[in-house]
Parts: sequence; structure tokens; C-alpha cells
Amino acid sequence: MNPNFLQTPIAYLKGVGPNRADILKAELGIETYRDLLHLFPNRYLDRTSYYKINQLQPSGADVQVVGKIIHLKMVEQKRGKRLVATFVDETGQMELVWFRGHKWIKESLKINEPYVVFGRVSQYGSTFSIPHPEMELLHQHQQGLKVAMQPIYPSTEKLSAKGITNRVVSKMVQQLILESKGLFAEPLPVSILDELRLISKTEAILNIHFPKNQELLARAQFRLKFEELFFVQMQLISKKMLRKQKIKGLPFENVGENFTTFFENHLPFNLTEAQKRVIKEIRNDLGSNAQMNRLLQGDVGSGKTIVALMCMLLAIDNGFQACLMAPTEILATQHYNGLKELLVNMDLKIALLTGSTKKSERTLLHNQLENGNLNILVGTHAVLEDKVQFKNLALAIVDEQHRFGVAQRSKLWHKNDTPPHILVMTATPIPRTLAMSLYGDLDVSVIDELPPGRKPVTTVHRFDNNRLKVFGFLKDEIKKGRQVYIVYPLIQESEAMDYKDLMDGYESIARDFPQPEYQISIIHGQMKPADKDYEMERFVKGETQIMVATTVIEVGVNVPNASVMIIESAERFGLSQLHQLRGRVGRGAEQSFCILMTGHKLSEDAKTRLQTMTRTNDGFEIAEVDLKLRGPGDLMGTQQSGLLALKIADIVKDNQILQTARYHAMQLLKNDPRLEKEENAPVLRAFTRIMTNKTIWNYIS
Ligand code: ADP
Ligand code: MG
Repeated sequence: MNPNFLQTPIAYLKGVGPNRADILKAELGIETYRDLLHLFPNRYLDRTSYYKINQLQPSGADVQVVGKIIHLKMVEQKRGKRLVATFVDETGQMELVWFRGHKWIKESLKINEPYVVFGRVSQYGSTFSIPHPEMELLHQHQQGLKVAMQPIYPSTEKLSAKGITNRVVSKMVQQLILESKGLFAEPLPVSILDELRLISKTEAILNIHFPKNQELLARAQFRLKFEELFFVQMQLISKKMLRKQKIKGLPFENVGENFTTFFENHLPFNLTEAQKRVIKEIRNDLGSNAQMNRLLQGDVGSGKTIVALMCMLLAIDNGFQACLMAPTEILATQHYNGLKELLVNMDLKIALLTGSTKKSERTLLHNQLENGNLNILVGTHAVLEDKVQFKNLALAIVDEQHRFGVAQRSKLWHKNDTPPHILVMTATPIPRTLAMSLYGDLDVSVIDELPPGRKPVTTVHRFDNNRLKVFGFLKDEIKKGRQVYIVYPLIQESEAMDYKDLMDGYESIARDFPQPEYQISIIHGQMKPADKDYEMERFVKGETQIMVATTVIEVGVNVPNASVMIIESAERFGLSQLHQLRGRVGRGAEQSFCILMTGHKLSEDAKTRLQTMTRTNDGFEIAEVDLKLRGPGDLMGTQQSGLLALKIADIVKDNQILQTARYHAMQLLKNDPRLEKEENAPVLRAFTRIMTNKTIWNYIS
């Protein structure tokens, strides 16, 4: 077969032509033969049985019925008209109904000729009807390709309105398979085909479109999903290998004095096993001479900060500098204060750089960074400014990465001749396997254990009309000496409205919690940083008992005495955000509470989110639900990653296949990094085509 056969523009396929080609392109993105071949059916219908009209059930199933149209009429309805055909067989009578495309349908329908009609049955009164059925004359139906199961292709309203029905698409695919003589190049090596008992590409393509039976369909699906995920992983892994070969990092050869001293004398608690394991993983990376690019995942409160600190000590022990970046000024300041306290007995210099650092201080700081007097710099985006130069930055740690863009991270690379090692810490739990496919070119470490003695936060859902009861509960807790967060949603698009909600809320809280008995702090996005800090300070010191805030406090804030988190309009928050917010409490020894407030009107998704929150505290479980609710599209990085472009595999449902594919891609590249071996020639060919086509997968770098 001509190797370029599949690149042929779809207009050349018999039965398509330029007009249909335009529609196919606009509606389904189909431009070439290959695209059509990879338009996989959404589902299949068993068309081996034919129903009699008196056997029909209002089950909503798709069925086929043989009969004749005896009468056609237009019926006026509230809006527009509908075309109704009376359809009969020897057992009874039913209706076929069209709401659109009347002219075209009316002209093509034949009265009193046997048809096979197919579609979803519904019932109105005592009459069954099929809206927009597929129609095929019985004699044509009998001549058609005999398939046990019928593919249902993705479609759009426009496609069916233009007469490109499922049957038409199916015919196109048949035609294409006919023209290609059913021979498709096999991109997988024999060794993998054998080991996994995969069916050939040709067999898979035939059976994904026109399955001979259920078993072959399942095998075709498995094979094609595997292939798709395999090539995604091939790209990610080869990219990572390239980076490790090409990009040298600064080697950390010494097991250092600072690290050991801190570990032996100043560590305020025992590390959890997970923390120890992760530090070991990072040490291994830093000890090799390849540049580290590692993602550290750990649920809120799992203790990522101490891991970051110990890694920075390693850098210092080897004569280098380190920096830690956080997305907000509040968080950066908190990190700075926390680290300073941990390092109080050690002879190290640490400084803070944020947008509000004074100019005089800044100049001093720049000098100290350049002459190497400063060991650790903590800061916000301000660290990325070109003016900020280091003597020898070897480790850059980014906390809560989802607020940092790719471009910003790449700026870190140019702070040094040799790029620093990069550790990205995130508390947004990403299901592990998803992380693997998203960040397959990063290494991933996971802290999957909370420090001992944490009491799980009790989470409840309350409706707005119970607010007084909730306030009563707050008063009890405050009486016990606890502090409370009350959080309002912040949605960028309508900042003014959010602000109003917040202020209204604040006023009503101020009425119910009057001074001087109660003191209230408020923080929102429109305040100056200095004012925010001042309010935060008061809350941290315990001078105020209530913190009214927008989601500014979502990230990282640590006030162990705060034990109640009220989330207003909780239905407006996403799951991961709710989980982050809840992570602000439960940090001290006391039992903590999270109260989700909503009105009575809730969408199904919102209900699921609230139920999930009240059911579990496990960030990974929550992330799985989130992923199922939203699909991978909204997760960070997926837009760039092109995982949405997957044609048949589903990174959530096909997790197991993903892992198998990853394993095999890894083995293959380990044995033959450049795909030079004869047996891997087909892989190389397919891989090269994917890479040069650049249609897919521009992963985070
Ligand atoms: P996160 O992973 O959310 O950034 P932090 O690093 O802020 O978590 O840690 C949360 C709290 O747990 C801090 O008060 C920290 O001191 C404490 N902590 C961290 N590790 C341990 C541990 N191994 N044992 C006890 N407490 C710990
Ligand atoms: Mg943190």
C-alpha cells in the first residue's frame, strides 16, 4: 500500500466530495483518510434482532423494526412543525417523527415500501414513536455489509441536518476500509504484540468499526487504547531521557554538615516514613549529575516544607544557594518566618524578597545574593525578575505550582549557567497515574502519609437557613478559645460582585459577633499587601477570633489554633479548592470542623461535590472524583498536554492500560534508546510521524 495513502484528503474518498469534506472538517476535525479511520464509534448497537411493533417497550433502547410507512403528515406544534409518519407491521402501528430537516426527509421517504427503521423508542400515550429514526430500505439493508454490531459514530446536529447520518459515516468508513484493502501498517513491535497477546493493527481497525463479536470488540479496544497511550508515553519518556543526558545539573557530592546537624539536633519532630522516602529520592537525584526536575505531591498538611528545607540544606552543604518561591506574599512571608525559626540555631543567612520589599533592602539583598553571603532566598514572583542574580543557585523550589506558569518556571533556568535543580511542590492532589501521564517527563515523589496525631476534620453540609445555629456553634468554639475562618467565593470574572458578597457577609457577621467580645479580621484581594499582612498578623497572634476572607487564604496559611472553617456558597467552589480550604484547619491538637454552607438549589454535580467532601478527607480520593466530574480538561496542565486529544483511551478509566503502556515504553527505550534495532523499525516510523506531525502533545517542559 502507498505509505501516504492515509494522508489523502478526505474529499477524495468515494461518496464524500468537497462539500461533505468541509462539513466533516468543521464538525469532526476530519481532514484525511487517517482521521476518518480514527473516528472511533462511541458505542455499538446490536442489530442482529428485529422487533415487532407489539413487542416494543418504553425502555429507551435503540431497536430496529421492519415495516412500511402508510401515511405522512405535518403537525403544527407550539414552535414550528413536526413531520409524522405512520409506520406499520403485521402486529401494529407506531409513529416516526422528525422535528427538523422536513423537506429533505419528505422527498426521500417512500410510501408502502418495506423499511428497516432504527432508533430510540419513546412512548406518548399509548403510541410508540421513534424520533429521527435511521431509515434503510429493506432490500438495501439486506445487501449491506453483514455486521453483528453496528457502530455509532460521534455526531453533531449539523452533521445530521446535512444528511451525514450515522449510516452515511459508517458507509464512508466501509468504503475507506475497502479501498485500503484492510491493510494497515503495524506500529507495534512483535515482542509487545506477543507478550500482551494483542491483535494486529488491521484486525483492530476492522473490529473497532465493525466488530464481529463482543470479544473481538473488546480486544480491538484494548489494542488501540494501548497503542495510543504507548506513543504518548514514548514521547514523554524519550523527552525525559534526552533531558537527563543533555542537561547536566550541579552535583551535590557531599553529605553535608548542615543537613546532618539539622537532622540530629534541630528537627522538631520525627519525620514520617513518607518524608524520609521522598528526601532519599531527591538526594539520589541531586547526587547524580543530571539536572533534577521533580514534582513533589503531598496533601495539605503532609509536611512538604520540612522536606524543602532539608533539600536546601543539601545545596548549602555543597557550597550552593537555594531559593523557595511561593505564589502569594502571605505564603512567602509565612515560609520565611517558619524557616527562620527552624534555622534559628544554625549559622545560615536567609532573606525574604517580595513585591513590597523596600528598595534599600532590595539593593542590599541583591548584593548578598551575588556575593554568595545569602544562603536561602524565600520570595514571590519577585525572585524571577532579571535584576535578581545569584552567585550560584543550585536548587529552586516552587511551592503550590498551579499558580505558576510554565514560562515563569523556565525563567528559573536562566538564573545560572548550569540550570538549577527544580523541585515543584503541590498540594493539589493529582491521581498518581494521571500525574504520570501528565508529567511523564518529570519525576514524581509523593508524600502519602500525614504526620501522626492529626485528628481528621469533621465536615458537614448546612443550608443557609440554619445559619443562626451555625453561628451559635461558632460562639461555643470561640468561647473554648478557638479561631474561625469564614470564606467567600472569589471568581475573577465578577470581582465587583464577589466583593459585594464578601462585604455584605462581613457586615452581617459583625452584627452577630459584636465588639468588643468578638474581634474580626478581613482579608480580600483589593487590599494593600501591608494591610493584608496586618490583618493576618492579628489573626495569627490570636487578637482576632474570626477571619473573614476570600480564597486568598486558600494556599498554605498555617494557624494551628484555627479549628473551624466555614465556606459560604460552597456550591460555587470546585472540589480541589474545597479540599484546600479545609486543609487550613485540623492543624492543631483540637478537633476541627469544616462547615459547607449552601442554598437549597443545587446542581447534581454540586451535590456530588458536597457529599464527597463530607464523606472523605483523602485528597487523592477527592481528586479522583474531581477528575470524573470535570474530566481531565480542567486539571492543570492538561490543556497544554493534549491529553484531551486522546481518541480512544481515557486516562481515568484506562488507568491500568496506561500503566502497562508506560512500562512497555520504558522497557523499549531502555533497550533501544534511539530505536535503531531492526525489530523496532515500525515503532520508529510511527513515532517519527507523530513527532513531525506535531498534531499532539506539547507537554509541559
Ligand atoms: P504542607 O505539606 O501542607 O506544606 P506543612 O509543611 O506546612 O504542610 O506542614 C504542616 C504542619 O505539620 C506544620 O506545622 C509542620 O511543622 C508539621 N509537620 C510536618 N512534618 C511533621 C512530622 N513529621 N511530624 C509532626 N509534625 C509535622
Ligand atoms: Mg505548604
